Amino acid sequence: RTVLGIETSCDETAAAVVVDGRSALSNIVASQMTLHQAYGGVVPEIASRQHLDAIADVVARAVEPLDDGFRGLDGIAVTYGPGLVGALLVGLSYAKALALTLGVPFVGVHHIEGHMFSTTFEYGAWDYPALALIVSGGHTDLFHIAAPFAYERIGHTRDDAAGEAYDKTARRLGLGYPGGPILDRLARAGQPDHAPLVYRPPLIPDAPYDFSFSGLKTAVLRYIREHQVAPLPEGIHPEDISAQAPDSIRNLAASFQRAVVNTLVGVLERAIDAYHPRLVVTGGGVVCNTGLRQALADLAHRKGIEIRVPHPKYTTDNAAMIAAAGYARLARGERHDWSLEPAPSLRLGQVPAEHSRHFR
Ligand code: ATP
Ligand code: MG
Ligand code: FE
Repeated sequence: RTVLGIETSCDETAAAVVVDGRSALSNIVASQMTLHQAYGGVVPEIASRQHLDAIADVVARAVEPLDDGFRGLDGIAVTYGPGLVGALLVGLSYAKALALTLGVPFVGVHHIEGHMFSTTFEYGAWDYPALALIVSGGHTDLFHIAAPFAYERIGHTRDDAAGEAYDKTARRLGLGYPGGPILDRLARAGQPDHAPLVYRPPLIPDAPYDFSFSGLKTAVLRYIREHQVAPLPEGIHPEDISAQAPDSIRNLAASFQRAVVNTLVGVLERAIDAYHPRLVVTGGGVVCNTGLRQALADLAHRKGIEIRVPHPKYTTDNAAMIAAAGYARLARGERHDWSLEPAPSLRLGQVPAEHSRHFR
């Protein structure tokens, strides 16, 4: 069973062909990042237009490995939320038109469910009960999954997503956008103890699996002010930034990264102790982070539990993960009809009663 996945929820136009939900024949990602870099974040109007410009070519490249081209497809899966409405609309409309033309089933996928499936290429199906930790530019969510597709969101961030905290901190330090990769690189060359932050991972009353990063943001700002850490001047080429950054910025990056990682891993450990999962899956762009990957490996070892971390190329937005999730849904007979609309704030999973009053 060969499924085409399409993803246009934010700033990458992506398409991929996946066989039996496991092997990716292609994984094409056209990033608009450089276009948005000048603005320090994603500009919705620019994103939509750029998707429209790129989609036909990206999809054509994704089906190239198939002998029969489009005729070799058995189904189409597309992200229909959450995300930017104009951006989602491009991928969704294209997927519908293609499915209608080819006469193949079509299914919409939740973007975060896609991130959860990003480990299947290397590791295959999950064991249950499972926990899923998704850490990206827009989300920091923890799910308990008792059985296939039974997603229960037990925790989420109260303020910034972890990736967002990276991006904002990087901007503060003049490091450009996106901030995650560059701060990660600087952190590896820094000494966290040389830039101690006044910060403890928050424990939110009645919401033990929620996250918060605004306190960390404040701690970093205070540190910058008190120690007069000067941001890098503008105009340094992105590739030269890590060579040119002074020790003060490297140390601060290392300290910030340690705090983010401790927050994430602390909450996950608490949830492992409470839910006794057989498996933990992770996904989202921040799971690229070398410090987080190391800490997750340590936690897995300490707890004697399997924690699956996707290959870096599947952590940030891609369509292979959407095809894998879509395959699983198509295989159990799910279909959407042509009335499916983009759902910018689509939610995945019910909230357990004891957490429902915290739900925004
Ligand atoms: P969402 O999935 O919530 O809609 P998104 O699609 O924008 O958000 P992803 O593409 O999954 O998010 O991830 C992008 C984020 O990951 C950015 O915030 C980026 O800074 C962060 N990121 C990427 N690499 C790293 C890294 N090595 N360390 C930390 N953060 C990283
Ligand atoms: Mg993105
Ligand atoms: Fe994403």
